[in-house]
This record gives sequence, C-alpha cells and structure tokens, in this order.
Amino acid sequence: RGEPRRQAVTVLGATGSIGTSTLDVIARHPERYRVHALTAHRSREALLAQCRVHRPAVAVLDREADAAWLRARLAEAGLATEVESGPDALVAVAEASAVDVVMAAIVGAAGLLPTLAAVDAGKRVLLANKEALVMSGALFMEAVAKRGATLLPIDSEHNAIYQCLPVEHRGGLARHGVTQLLLTASGGPFRGWSARELAEVTPAQACAHPNWSMGRKISVDSATLMNKGLELIEACWLFDARPEQVQVVVHPQSVIHSMAAYSDGSVIAQLGNPDMRTPIAYGLAWPERIEAGVEALDLFQVARLDFEAPDEAAFPCLRLAREAMAAGGTAPAVLNAANEVAVEAFLEGRLAFTGIAELVARVRDIEPIAPARDLETVLEADARARRAAREWLARR
Ligand code: NAD
Ligand code: MG
Repeated sequence: RGEPRRQAVTVLGATGSIGTSTLDVIARHPERYRVHALTAHRSREALLAQCRVHRPAVAVLDREADAAWLRARLAEAGLATEVESGPDALVAVAEASAVDVVMAAIVGAAGLLPTLAAVDAGKRVLLANKEALVMSGALFMEAVAKRGATLLPIDSEHNAIYQCLPVEHRGGLARHGVTQLLLTASGGPFRGWSARELAEVTPAQACAHPNWSMGRKISVDSATLMNKGLELIEACWLFDARPEQVQVVVHPQSVIHSMAAYSDGSVIAQLGNPDMRTPIAYGLAWPERIEAGVEALDLFQVARLDFEAPDEAAFPCLRLAREAMAAGGTAPAVLNAANEVAVEAFLEGRLAFTGIAELVARVRDIEPIAPARDLETVLEADARARRAAREWLARR
C-alpha cells in the first residue's frame, strides 16, 4: 500500500486569527496536509512570511498593487508561488480542482462568494466565516446537500454541538431524540454591566476578550452578544433547529463549548481549553482525531463551572438576531450587514457601543424583508442595508 495522498488545503483569510491557528495545526501534520493557497486582504507582509514557511502554489491579495509587491518579494526569495488579486481569485482558489479542503476564515460578508464556491465545488468546507451562513442560510445548506460538500463547523460552539450529536443528524433534531441545543456564551468582557456603563465603552475595552484572542470584528460582536445572536442563527441552519430549540447559556469559564439535550434527560457536552486549534483540528481530520497543540484540560485548575441567563435588556443584539431568524428571508442578511457597518463605525470611534444595537434595530425597521430566493436577492438586501446604515450614521 502506498502513502495516502496528502490533502491540499486552501486557507481563505490565512493571516487572521483563525487562519494562523489553521496553519499552526497544518504544520504539525506535514504528512497529511499541504497548502494549496493562502489569501489575505491587505496584510501583504504577513502573507509573505506565511508563503516562505508553507510554500503554497497560489497566494491572493485584494489589491493588484499589493500582489505585485508580493510577487517581487517571492521572486527574490526564489519561491514559485503564483500571486493573484481580487475577489475572482478568491473564488478560483476555493473551487480549484487541486483542492480538497477549504478553510473559510475571511471575516464578514466578503467571505460569502468564495465560501459558496467551495461548497458548489463539493469540497470539505471548514466554516469559520459565520456571516456567510447567516446571510444565505437556506441557499447555503441547499447547496451543501446538492453538491455533496462536507460542511464542518469551526465556530467552537457549533463544533461542540456537532460532536455531541449522533453521527447522522440530518432531518430534524426530534428524529434523533434531541430536544434542545445549549449554546454557551462567555458573556464577553462586559458581563454584568448596566446599559449606562456600556454607553462609555471604548474599542480597546471591547476587543479585550477574557477567554479568547480573536479578530477585532468578532471581538466586538462577542462584547455586544451579537456574536451569540449570529451563532444562534448559524445553529438553526447547521442543525435544522428552530430558534426556540436553541437556548443561550452564559458560562463565563468557556470550558464547556456547548451541549445537546436529549429526550431521555441526557445532556452531552464538549469540554476543552478555549483554543480554536481544537475545532480546527477536528474539522481537518474528521472523522479521525489528530494532535492540535492544545494543552490538556486540567479540571482541578478549572475547579468550577458557572452558568447564568443572558441579560437581554443590556445586550439587545441577541434578541434582534433571534427575531431576524424568526422573520426569515433576507432578514438575517439585513441584520448582518447593518451590524458590520455599525461595528466598523464603533471601531473607528464614530458610534457608541450601545449605538450598535440601535443602528441594527433602525435598519431592521426600515428595510423590507424578501424571500431569500436566490443569491442576487441576498446580495441586494445586504447592499441596501449597508446603504441604509451609512445614511443613518451620516444623518445623526
Ligand atoms: P481576523 O480579522 O483575525 O482575520 C480575517 C482574515 O480575513 C484576515 O486574513 C484578513 O486579511 C481577511 N479579510 C478581511 N477582510 C477581507 C476582505 N474584505 N476580503 C478578503 N479577505 C479579507 O478574523 P478572525 O478572528 O480570524 O475571524 C474570521 C472568521 O472566523 C469570522 O467570520 C469570525 O466570526 C469567525 N470565527 C472566529 C473565531 C476566532 O476565535 N477568531 C472563532 C469563531 C469564529
Ligand atoms: Mg463561537
């Protein structure tokens, strides 16, 4: 028997928090994986450093000027990596026939088209980019089924639930005796704060998460609890659940990553240190298990696990997301787009922390909801919601 063929991996968003953790896991298993393509938005220096180590066939940057810079540096270094630029190049490296696995780790709506391209090409898709699924849920899951793609959730909560469900869990939770999904939340850096205290919060405070080190956008989402709202929508699509079947449980230690409750009273949980290399390694190797570089969980050091209900009055984003999922159609895409504009404005100091939920609610109130029949409808709803959000910001 010959050596098994190494899996070729494309990492979309390679220079980000998830992207670098993915490359860390891949580098531990050179006999199993090789890198086909690495992509980044503007971080050309970081991408150059990654190309030197991982020797991808292709590297992608957003702007041609950055791509030309990278091409020159790689040529000087005697590396054969081809460098492309722009959104079409992202799609190309996601669907290339040489690729087996695509890590979807671009942040926000920018990741939707390449992630869908990977699905359409029937790849093993490791989904970190939750915004892509939130925007296009029904279409996304339809494409997964139709194209025979293997979708593995990387978001730690969904990865945990995936591990707590029976291997075959399609066709509704009830069929498998699952009564509820328990989505754990750390509560973010402002757990227990009042609405008045929250109004004064700065971007630096919001990005200092107690348990996880992450990109800036998801850090702000974690602080507003919009991240948990997006994850609630994500769970509904991934596991064919209704919003009321997903209960958010604040668990400050972030040791239980989520749970599934069964009709016989059993609750199955997945535990581990808060390190994204665990779900990434799970997604890469599934159904096998590989070493991820994660320290073993020391329960004596953890000592206790606490649970409390989320404060939806101080953190209205969770409710806004649940309502968007219940409204259906393009409502989640509108929610996501308004939130992306709001988070950017907050990070640039143009909007108060509590203004994020306010802006999302305003846009929701004025934007019509359409059935999400096709991708064009979703992209149009996204563009309209962004315009409405920017106009509201400008008018204030
Ligand atoms: P990040 O900001 O650290 O990295 C984002 C990556 O995407 C970078 O490589 C960046 O260059 C690229 N990128 C950004 N904008 C782009 C654009 N317009 N076009 C093309 N590429 C672009 O973000 P992250 O924390 O790694 O998160 C990535 C995704 O994973 C997000 O959707 C996030 O919600 C999800 N996620 C992250 C974590 C985590 O622990 N960081 C956990 C769960 C889910
Ligand atoms: Mg998560």
